[in-house]
Amino acid sequence: MDVRLTEEQELLRRSVREFAERELRPHVMEWDEAQQFPRALLARFAELGLMGIQFPEQYGGAAMSAVDYCICIEELARVDPSVCLSVAAHNGLGAAHIFMFGTEAQKQRYLVPLATGQQLAAWGLTEASAGSDAASMRTTAVRDGDDWVITGTKQFITHGGTADLVVVMAMTNKAKGSRGISAFIIERGTAGLRAGKKENKLGMRASDTSEVILDQCRVPASQLLGAEGQGFVNALQVLDAGRIGIAALSVGLAQGAYEAARSYAFERRQFGQPIGTFQSIRAKLVDNATRIEAARLLTYRAASMKDAGRRTTLEAAMAKLYSSEIAVRAAEDGVQIHGGYGFVKDYPAEKYFRDVKLTTIGEGTSEIQRLVIARQLLAE
Ligand SMILES: Cc1cc2nc3c(=O)[nH]c(=O)nc-3n(C[C@H](O)[C@H](O)[C@H](O)COP(=O)(O)OP(=O)(O)OC[C@H]3O[C@@H](n4cnc5c(N)ncnc54)[C@H](O)[C@@H]3O)c2cc1C
Repeated sequence: MDVRLTEEQELLRRSVREFAERELRPHVMEWDEAQQFPRALLARFAELGLMGIQFPEQYGGAAMSAVDYCICIEELARVDPSVCLSVAAHNGLGAAHIFMFGTEAQKQRYLVPLATGQQLAAWGLTEASAGSDAASMRTTAVRDGDDWVITGTKQFITHGGTADLVVVMAMTNKAKGSRGISAFIIERGTAGLRAGKKENKLGMRASDTSEVILDQCRVPASQLLGAEGQGFVNALQVLDAGRIGIAALSVGLAQGAYEAARSYAFERRQFGQPIGTFQSIRAKLVDNATRIEAARLLTYRAASMKDAGRRTTLEAAMAKLYSSEIAVRAAEDGVQIHGGYGFVKDYPAEKYFRDVKLTTIGEGTSEIQRLVIARQLLAE
């Protein structure tokens, strides 16, 4: 067993880190205030392969591994977790669903523009009354000749208001419950598709989050994604992989919060010495550094199992649960180490603290990760 990254992976980390420091760092607070995903970044991300990180070159992707994907996501989140959330949702949810379950024709038509950064993808599973219990969704799709007519409202959708296409899960046969849910690709501009309320959020504000309203939205049968009735099962498979991305995002965010606290601890002097020489401050830094390393290893383990083609339901849930929970600790300790300066917007600690809470909620809350893990470990 060798847990070191390869030279190429270290190089990848350096190049994404330099990009994030140069292109993202100076604008982090401006984008946070604007509450808008900076769409001009798509072309810049695409140059680095970040819009189609894991997809094969034949679909315009960068053909990187799942471990490489984690490195890219970590380095973006270390600087701007909210812009990173958009990259993770695009790659790991909307585009991934098309890559994993789309036909060749769907991949050529929809995945190529996504992977090359010409278009942005959204993914709509959640509804107002169907969050953790997503299978209780009310959105329906009814077959009408060669078309499907989709009606319902999706809640909390990343890029819901701005994406070029949305992958939407809808009930096609209510009697079959979760086995009666199917997925559809819906393009922006389709009659009946519109953005609803845009959320005014605590954190992750540069990643816009909106309702997606589907009012008798008619799509041809060729836009059914995957087999009819398999949409929910496929969504869970997408989430198994997507959760590795949120684990990596948590590790990167925690790393950024830790580094900011570490450098502040050696700048700030009280009682005639840097606060970083006080034992209780050192203990916080050391404990966070140790937890971040453990989270990173759990995340890379899940990613390398995915690369080996193995099922990762358990490992992805463990990585997501642990990494997000320790990221919350790292961001909170970051504010504490900054004292009053952690509570104001002049230092990055405040934004990490706001952004981090999404990691224990999105793509399955911590409680749901524990349910997933229990189902794998504690089945009788
Ligand atoms: C910024 C943001 C971006 C998002 N992006 C997307 C997106 O792009 N696409 C998408 O489809 N969704 C998206 N979501 C939705 C997200 O996945 C849901 O918010 C999440 O799954 C939780 O659902 P909920 O908010 O309805 O909470 P609820 O399910 O109502 O949960 C409320 C509380 O009850 C707990 N709980 C629920 N069930 C159980 C149980 N069985 N056992 C123990 N505790 C339980 C939960 O853990 C939580 O603490 C996004 C959310 C946010 C905030």
